Amino acid sequence: MSLKLRPLKKEMKKGGKSKVSSYTPPRFLYRDANEYTELPIIPKTLDLIPKKLKDDISDLDFVGVIKSEEPNRKKQKGGLGGKAIGPSYRTTIKFENVKFSETKDKVHTEELEFKGKKLYFKKPTLAKNSAKIRCQCADFFMKFETPIAKAGSLAYGTPRPYVRKTPEWTLGNMRAWEENPWNKKTNPTGNRKPYPHANPTDKLGYCKHIHSFLAYLMDNAKLVKQS
Ligand SMILES: [Zn+2]
Repeated sequence: MSLKLRPLKKEMKKGGKSKVSSYTPPRFLYRDANEYTELPIIPKTLDLIPKKLKDDISDLDFVGVIKSEEPNRKKQKGGLGGKAIGPSYRTTIKFENVKFSETKDKVHTEELEFKGKKLYFKKPTLAKNSAKIRCQCADFFMKFETPIAKAGSLAYGTPRPYVRKTPEWTLGNMRAWEENPWNKKTNPTGNRKPYPHANPTDKLGYCKHIHSFLAYLMDNAKLVKQS
């Protein structure tokens, strides 16, 4: 199961002609989708928002608010008074070219309200409807937001600027940190441990919230079809 994202634009070939890129779904999954299947997912809210309604074709945003699976992560010292509820993330999957109708029929089976009017849409399918995505979580931000935006597949807005806070994962930096991990004055890398890039080759993919939200839309809400 994977969303049809836009492929990254290919580099210009020698001779000046740009290569026409073609889409291959599985290569966009940066992490193995099987890693995500354990996350139980019931969105706190689910909104269906049609966009650019014109003729009978439109984009349709599925917007879910997904609760963090680690509710006690931010609990403060002493237990009492700590946050019992973890962060929630707004997760958007925008399917493009969804077909709408003002009347319900065999094709347009799903109902939604839009500006006080009832509308019916044809369930988007993963194979046919391309999708744009966005999630508020840190994993999406640090690994996927910039490459997804470059590919033209960010659902809304512009990518948040990412400033690296940890030193490069080099042998020299690692040695410097190990020799003197906490002394900022004498340690050229500061007092932060070097970390490798989370997504060094800017592969396209998405976080577990988007994955789980998509699974929910298909398996429970039955609003999206596999093929
Ligand atoms: Zn996420």
